[in-house]
Amino acid sequence: MEKIKIFDLTRQVHVLKDDIEEALWSTLSSGQFILGNHVSAFESEFCDYLGCRYAVGVGSGTSALRLAYLAIGLKSGDRIITTPTTYVATAMAAAIHGGVPDFVDINPENGRMDVNQLRERLRNAKRQGTLKQYRAIVPVHLYGYPENMTEILSVSETFGIPVIEDACQAHGGWFSLKGKKTMAGTAGHLGCFSFYPTKNLGAYGDGGMVVTDNPELAQQVRMLRNYGQKEKRHTHFMIAGNNRLDEIQAAWLRKKLPHLSNYNRRRREIAAYYTSQFASLPIIPPPEDQEGEYSVSHLYVIQTDQRASLQAYLSEHGIGTAIHYPTPIHLQPAFAYLGFSTGDFPNAERFAKRVLSLPMYPELTDAEVETIASAVKDFF
Ligand SMILES: *Cc1c(COP(=O)(O)O)cnc(C)c1O
Repeated sequence: MEKIKIFDLTRQVHVLKDDIEEALWSTLSSGQFILGNHVSAFESEFCDYLGCRYAVGVGSGTSALRLAYLAIGLKSGDRIITTPTTYVATAMAAAIHGGVPDFVDINPENGRMDVNQLRERLRNAKRQGTLKQYRAIVPVHLYGYPENMTEILSVSETFGIPVIEDACQAHGGWFSLKGKKTMAGTAGHLGCFSFYPTKNLGAYGDGGMVVTDNPELAQQVRMLRNYGQKEKRHTHFMIAGNNRLDEIQAAWLRKKLPHLSNYNRRRREIAAYYTSQFASLPIIPPPEDQEGEYSVSHLYVIQTDQRASLQAYLSEHGIGTAIHYPTPIHLQPAFAYLGFSTGDFPNAERFAKRVLSLPMYPELTDAEVETIASAVKDFF
């Protein structure tokens, strides 16, 4: 039996019990279950938190990505460009609509997009006259560590290709852009968030959000989430499905949003402790914040050559771990039709063989964190 689980969502529920009951009852007694006051209030509170102009609540992070891709005009055959080292949804959300995921490799140290490769890829596309196939660059703030947005936005400007940030793991993270503090998700043309239960801001079910400063894009996403309707019902301006954020999820997300900064602080404290304890071990710890960067440790992921034996050892000692993610996207069977093979993105492939996620959630006690760190040290 693993005494310390990789995630434990029940602890937080006990702490927030009164708030959750109040949110539940206020929704039930309002009789409004679809796009009611909680969804619109949460959208504006999330905007305030991020310092952006528009937020549109949707059904999941995957829906957020799908609708963002469609809002910037993704059509069948268009390419989006990301890395193979992310959750599969980043690419699948485009592929569902006939988009073609394209990849650049990662920096082996920190899992971030190799921006030189990105620039090279687009330069070649320009030379070959295929640049207009590229609809979006999609940086992912993987594990809560900010992507190199200054560089990526400069590539975006050079080639005239919009940026859609996958901020599904980075609620509350920020970085400095032209000297200005900028929240993850608000630097690109559109930003996408997931409220999957284990995320830094998690619902008790599915949920997601698209954010932007652009009123037309916000309007597009609003129509795409609700059968092509604008504010008024029964006039449909486009073919679109039902991709709405649930009222009840919005109700308790509103209760949790005020805690997000504290949760992130605690995650960072745990991450800093782990990293301080692992200094002399033969592992690569997660990247440290660069100047003007604030990561939010969605996951604490180390790289080691001895992953399988470390994972087994920790399990024997009652500590749960996980692998995010064991197969890089270009090698997933679902994407075999893209024609990639082993060796195409060597850094991503090596990373996938070496990563191991240790328990990381704000409710871990100091004693548990110490137990985990000691067990890792004992193994080595
Ligand atoms: C969780 C996640 C998603 C998908 O979000 P869902 O709400 O589960 O659909 C997309 N991208 C990344 C990087 C994620 O971590």
